[in-house]
Amino acid sequence: MENKKELRNWLDAFNLDHPLVIAGPCSAETEEQVLKIAHQLKDTDATVLRAGIWKPRTRPGMFEGVGALGLKWLQKAKEETGMLITTEVANANHVELALKHDVDILWIGARTTVSPFIVQEIADALKGTDKPVLIKNPVNPDLALWLGAVERFYTQDIKNLGVIHRGFSTYEKTRYRNNPEWQLPIDLQNRFPDLPLILDPSHIAGRRDIIFDLCQTGLDLNYDGIMVETHYDPDNAWSDAKQQITPSTLVQIMNDLKIRKEIGTAMEFNNKLSTMRTQIDVIDHQLIESMGKRMKIADSIGELKTQNNVAILQTKRWNEILGAMILEGENHGLSEEFILKVFKAIHQESINHQKKIVRMEEA
Ligand code: PEP
Ligand code: MN
Repeated sequence: MENKKELRNWLDAFNLDHPLVIAGPCSAETEEQVLKIAHQLKDTDATVLRAGIWKPRTRPGMFEGVGALGLKWLQKAKEETGMLITTEVANANHVELALKHDVDILWIGARTTVSPFIVQEIADALKGTDKPVLIKNPVNPDLALWLGAVERFYTQDIKNLGVIHRGFSTYEKTRYRNNPEWQLPIDLQNRFPDLPLILDPSHIAGRRDIIFDLCQTGLDLNYDGIMVETHYDPDNAWSDAKQQITPSTLVQIMNDLKIRKEIGTAMEFNNKLSTMRTQIDVIDHQLIESMGKRMKIADSIGELKTQNNVAILQTKRWNEILGAMILEGENHGLSEEFILKVFKAIHQESINHQKKIVRMEEA
């Protein structure tokens, strides 16, 4: 798939002076709930109403969605409010039902994108459609798999495409429910600048207090829109209660977000500059996180050494690390002098940490 301007026609046709906003509950629960939230959202910046009808749950026994019945509620919400509607489709039968109920935009869930067979089945069922199809990243951080799914739709003559970044599953529990791994969507955006990129801060966060910050980072990285789970009574939502926000919080977020518009060459320059600066910020955070992790392991080594009466400084091991890092640095365009400085500083910090541990263990 080459980069093609046609990929963003559907989004440009909305003629919005702000990023696209898709909002609505994680799941359609009752007819009243869908209609009530749609009416609360219709006068906000949200153009599209979202609601899951079939819910892919990690474990059985949780609320698995109301099924096809909910499509009628979405259709009614569209008639009453004029909002466009979107839902997740996860097989050919879902596609058939969604098309029958005039769903305007379809999205492919993270657990579907991982499976080329199912993606192909859905792409075949949608062949030639003009409806926009938004493809969430797969649960695992695999850019090729994500792009592969986009290609499967593209080759079925589906040209109104977009991608949704919803974060990546990790074993290690972090402050996020799904780690953003910003580098992946940034790579994707650099390769396909005309493929609309939408942020789903809700599934990245898993909690409501960091939704705003995630949205701001997304906009600073030139994302084209956001998909935010919104409910009038988030705490009592039937799924993903912790991460949903109210329509009034959404309005507040849209007011507070700094939105950069691309006008004129000076603006374009500034835009590019801030995008790259945000990319640098993301990498700097990763550096700190990695160094913190390295230091924790150094601490454990310190403990082990004290318990076994081994000296902290082990010159042979240190020289081996340095040699290997100088070679690897060269492959990445980093000078020997720079690698030496950085690793000496890291090593010194490890020794300081280990000394502290020895003192504590011996006290
Ligand atoms: C959702 O949007 O409610 C959902 C299930 O998302 P994901 O596929 O990203 O987990
Ligand atoms: Mn959800």
